[in-house]
Amino acid sequence: MTFQDLKLNTPLYNAIEDLGFENPTPIQSESFSIVASGKDVVGIAQTGTGKTFAYMLPILRNLSYSKQDNPRVLVLVPTRELVVQVVDEIEKLSKYINNRVLGVYGGTNINTQKQAVAQGQDIIVATPGRLYDLAVSRVLQLKSIQKLVIDEVDVMLDLGFRHQLLNIFDILPERRQNIMFSATMTKDVDDLITDFFINPKKVQIAISGTPLDNIEQTRYNVPNFYTKVNLLESILKNKEDFSKVLIFVAYKRMADRLFDKLEDLFPSQSCVIHSNKTQNYRLRSIEQFRAGEHRLLVATDVMARGLDIEGITHVINFDTPDYPENYMHRIGRTGRAEKEGQSLLFSTEKEQGARRRIEELMDMSIKTLDIPEFVEISKELIEEERNVIKERYNPIKRRDEDAPGPAFHEKKEKNQKENLGGSYRREIAKKYKKPKTRGDKNYNRRNKKK
Ligand code: AMP
Repeated sequence: MTFQDLKLNTPLYNAIEDLGFENPTPIQSESFSIVASGKDVVGIAQTGTGKTFAYMLPILRNLSYSKQDNPRVLVLVPTRELVVQVVDEIEKLSKYINNRVLGVYGGTNINTQKQAVAQGQDIIVATPGRLYDLAVSRVLQLKSIQKLVIDEVDVMLDLGFRHQLLNIFDILPERRQNIMFSATMTKDVDDLITDFFINPKKVQIAISGTPLDNIEQTRYNVPNFYTKVNLLESILKNKEDFSKVLIFVAYKRMADRLFDKLEDLFPSQSCVIHSNKTQNYRLRSIEQFRAGEHRLLVATDVMARGLDIEGITHVINFDTPDYPENYMHRIGRTGRAEKEGQSLLFSTEKEQGARRRIEELMDMSIKTLDIPEFVEISKELIEEERNVIKERYNPIKRRDEDAPGPAFHEKKEKNQKENLGGSYRREIAKKYKKPKTRGDKNYNRRNKKK
């Protein structure tokens, strides 16, 4: 397909020509007519596939010139970096179009943003917290929004923005088009779609079910978490072969739990990334793993997206992903650039259905290995493995027990520091030389006066 097939208009053609793009990417070709039709859309596409233009091209194609002050298009993204990036992409496409685009995000002066909003805008790109603040201050009127785009929904939900999204849905006009893009399919994303979208059309570039030939896949049937840990321990003892191992788990709590275990078993050899860790912490972890300082990296699906690390010897699926596509993404991290890679899959009884779906997608069965005899089969169960009485239809109960509480505002930067525990407090105490007792304090005071 060419850009001519998309029936763009001259200003858009010219902008694309200036950018030097030859043809639309697959996600752009697939999305164009569906987004343009005005129906609700769910696009599954990773960063780097051209997803921003996939929704922006049809939106800009149909956005007529208007003098009205209230914006008509709202794009929500999880981070300020992405606000800047998306605004930049829209501006590139709008080179020959007379429209007004504004990016707003937290951690900066809200009054400056209020002034910019008051000048009148067509498209607002925002992080949810700041958007909500601007809307409740009544400076930003959302009553004319016709199109709502939520980009990187998986990251958005992983960061705990669900409640903020719901608050925003409440103040948007009901008659609007919802367009959602996500890199990975997760249960949270699925729930959001079911709850708020009207018969959405799904656009997805079929993920190839054909794994690379140079990835050797094996699997184990393992009864529970602690046995998985024991099996993992026995495997990872072989430090020479298992020299750069990416270990996947489905959610944050599990990532922390496994990381703690690995710290006990193999001190200072592992690091972890998930969305409750600060960006600095994550970058540090990735760097340590990349540089080979730490040979084990525990990661959630959402956070490992876009990771490009050379020479991963093994991918270990500590759990069996519910969505078979995620398995393909996971194992594709190894066996890159002609190198041999290995992947291991651990599945409990409950996970057998998911395992079969993976095998169906690949149209092959994964070689099953027996747990070595010396690995202890644990009887102990973690909380999630115990039988719990399910409270059904309880609307108050949160869906994802992992999600951080319903933050009303986006956290200010100074509040985003990670809790470093005791040693941090000790350092602060050292720095400020706090008196240990009142007597001390008076003693200091007396000494000062002298
Ligand atoms: P995204 O997936 O939206 O983050 O886009 C990734 C990069 O690809 C951006 O730098 C875009 O400018 C670029 N890009 C988008 N569409 C095309 C295209 N049709 N041909 C070449 N590059 C593109």
